[in-house]
Amino acid sequence: MIPTPRPLVIRAGRVIDPSAGLDRLADVLLEEGRVAHIAPPLGPVPDGAQVVDAAGQIVCPGFVDLHTHLRFPGFPDKETIASGTRAAAAGGFTTICAMANTQPVVDSPHVLEAVLDECRRTACVRVHQLGAVSIGLRGERLADLRALAEAGAVAFSDDGKPVWNASVMEEALGWSQILDRVISVHEEDPAIVQGGMANEGERAARHYLPPWPCGGEASLVARDIALLAQVGGKLHIAHASCAETVALLRAARDRGLQVTAEVTPHHLRLTDRLLEGDLDLSLPPAHPCCKVNPPLRSEHDVEALVEALAEGLIEAVATDHAPHNRADKSGSFIDAAFGISAIETALPILLDLERMRRISLPVMVERLTCGPAQVFGLNAGTLRIGSPADVCVFDPDACWQVTDETLYSRGKNTPLLGATLTGRVTHTIVAGNLVHEG
Ligand SMILES: [Zn+2]
Repeated sequence: MIPTPRPLVIRAGRVIDPSAGLDRLADVLLEEGRVAHIAPPLGPVPDGAQVVDAAGQIVCPGFVDLHTHLRFPGFPDKETIASGTRAAAAGGFTTICAMANTQPVVDSPHVLEAVLDECRRTACVRVHQLGAVSIGLRGERLADLRALAEAGAVAFSDDGKPVWNASVMEEALGWSQILDRVISVHEEDPAIVQGGMANEGERAARHYLPPWPCGGEASLVARDIALLAQVGGKLHIAHASCAETVALLRAARDRGLQVTAEVTPHHLRLTDRLLEGDLDLSLPPAHPCCKVNPPLRSEHDVEALVEALAEGLIEAVATDHAPHNRADKSGSFIDAAFGISAIETALPILLDLERMRRISLPVMVERLTCGPAQVFGLNAGTLRIGSPADVCVFDPDACWQVTDETLYSRGKNTPLLGATLTGRVTHTIVAGNLVHEG
């Protein structure tokens, strides 16, 4: 990320920076890769500066994603670091954290260094890499977390799989305390979920889809909170999907435990009603593009998640961007891979909640910026003077259609394909460089 020598001024936008309690019309001056000045709107422009006109638009810190699947190494037909970071830039994300469930798994410093090396060569936004908790994500033996941390692992996760063995999880939390790094957990109790694919209930039953009950998530959340209370450390619940998880989180927080959580845009806005098909989205019943892990849940769960996000019990929106190639998502629901290509549609989905008056614009921005940054302790998600010049400018009223051509990700696997969404990123800036113009 080489900072541009040329200053850049973002003029006359509504600047929202929750980290500084800022929400007003202003010019933002970026110089030498840093935020240099935030001044009253339409002030003087330094000689030779590049100008971005942001009138009528929102200017905020670049978004931070704690949960991205970049598929490197191993699956270039699904995504590459070049295509995944390009998609991130189009979604307004300037810092993303890549999951370790690649081929090979990022469970050694050697693989981690190879990823970071590829990022230096081909990424257009900042990428942090998570290390695996267990060797090969098998949940049996702990990876060398200290060596991974020294090689640059930002946090640890076996995402895609649960750490099913409680004693491995206990050990991991112990290390998280020593290394001051978060353990991000994919909560899926294998004994309960047993190959489940769709939210347990009438809708799954009607289409003969194997049930994935909320109890399978809540039982592991409860276990890990109990371990956290014993061992200490930093626990982060990835992709919370159930009302029961929210209740457990609330109780743990009331006890003063260090547990954080994220929720995906799709779990905030879509329900298992999509299994019945959707005329507006031209989706037939049980379409594979609606298959995601954890599954889309009930209206009751969505309600609890939105409330928890609004009040700050859940501090981060994370995309769980999970790109797949066409073959992995064709055929039947049962045969298809889990996952939604989500990083480019996160903003319009959240703006939908804002238009429904479920969350305010500043709260939405906070959950996409300093909220997640604090969870992993990242120097990101803020426009404070001197901080990295990573900025997102978006037009909350601009419409665009989600198509194979408009998505930069190699993964076109989203139930929103064909839909017209409102809210579009117009400029993404990393280290003072314009990396996306929409
Ligand atoms: Zn997961």
